[in-house]
Amino acid sequence: MAEDLDRADPLAAFRDRFLVPDSDLVYLDGNSLGRLPAATPGRLAEAVTEQWGRGLIRSWEHWIELAQSIGDEIAAAVVEADPGEVVVSDSTTVNLYKLAAAALDARPGRRVLLTDDDNFPTDSYVFQGLAAARGLELRVIETDLDDGLAPAAVRSALDEDVALVSFSHVAYRSGAIADMATITRQAHDVGALTLWDLSHSGGSIPVPLRSSGADLAVGCTYKYLCGGPGAPAFLYVRRDLQEELQQPIWGWFGQRDQFAMAGQYDAAPGVTRFLVGTPAVLSMIGVREGVRIVAEAGIGALRAKGQALTEYLIELADEWLIPLGFRLASPRDSERRGSHVSLHHPEAWRICRALIERYDVVPDFRTPDRLRLGPAPLTTSYADVWDALDRLRRLVESRAHEAYPTQRPRVT
Ligand SMILES: *Cc1c(COP(=O)(O)O)cnc(C)c1O
Repeated sequence: MAEDLDRADPLAAFRDRFLVPDSDLVYLDGNSLGRLPAATPGRLAEAVTEQWGRGLIRSWEHWIELAQSIGDEIAAAVVEADPGEVVVSDSTTVNLYKLAAAALDARPGRRVLLTDDDNFPTDSYVFQGLAAARGLELRVIETDLDDGLAPAAVRSALDEDVALVSFSHVAYRSGAIADMATITRQAHDVGALTLWDLSHSGGSIPVPLRSSGADLAVGCTYKYLCGGPGAPAFLYVRRDLQEELQQPIWGWFGQRDQFAMAGQYDAAPGVTRFLVGTPAVLSMIGVREGVRIVAEAGIGALRAKGQALTEYLIELADEWLIPLGFRLASPRDSERRGSHVSLHHPEAWRICRALIERYDVVPDFRTPDRLRLGPAPLTTSYADVWDALDRLRRLVESRAHEAYPTQRPRVT
């Protein structure tokens, strides 16, 4: 069955475009750190020895527009956006801060920032900090951990005092997809701006920024975009808002005519004004490689395979794991789910440890008691999913996890 699905998989060959040094390892964490594209080490080596080593400062000629040009590649292939609406810069967290602050400034007099209690922690922290610094109210909607954000709950939390509405497009725990179009319309009805976190959707599902009328977005490049650990993030600002918004960190990469070295800050036109300082050039080389592979595969094909892989995973879980005390902690309907699935189990933490250390399967543990399985469609086969669930079933049947401590280390 898994073999038949793999034979019919139009993306099967993409696995060979990545370095897969350990064929026994089943990697189900491509949604946390994407695999290494096979071309990336060579591109990085060239950038280091030729562009840096030989070219020295002259290489800035090639580097100065990387943030915008990779942004345009993301706009063309990863999210629904036009050239000049996306740039690569900083981290997701810093970009969230920049765009949220700019949005709040653009709605003076309004006192509320709206988010939900299932948002990724860094998002919540940034909003808490902004609310504290500005004396604003952070209004937090309760969201079902397994089923995701309900547009009706958003609507009832909205009023004319709301300046900014910000949610994750795909929930990091459950994989639930938020209804970007409906929520954006509701926010606009009361005059609020929207800021979407695309970290778990960019590179795995279509991101309807243009058709939903979304205002702002940020996203991660080291997950589905395979840019490498700590690779810089991207941000999106809808074209007609760009001149109206002013981000709070005034740096020289966001300055008009940067090398005129003027004494007074004057924000550059377009999306460039959302840049800050010198970019992480080497990391951006990795981002470009990852984005190009995603572009070649195509979001439509990646989405189709993501749905099929997670449907297959849930089918096996229903048959093998539910009888062992697991419960599905993600939407069952694949239309409402991104490319990862969470399973609830009271012993999820110890099962996760045993799975990694003894069974050569790498999932994630997510609080409070979930095992998160992310079969990234670019690099995961149906046979991987079968193997992972078969090993998981054997592990729990043998109670091998009971030998592991219940205490958690710093990184989970
Ligand atoms: C991974 C992730 C981030 C990461 O932010 P960093 O600044 O790169 O640490 C932010 N938000 C969400 C929703 C994520 O999934």
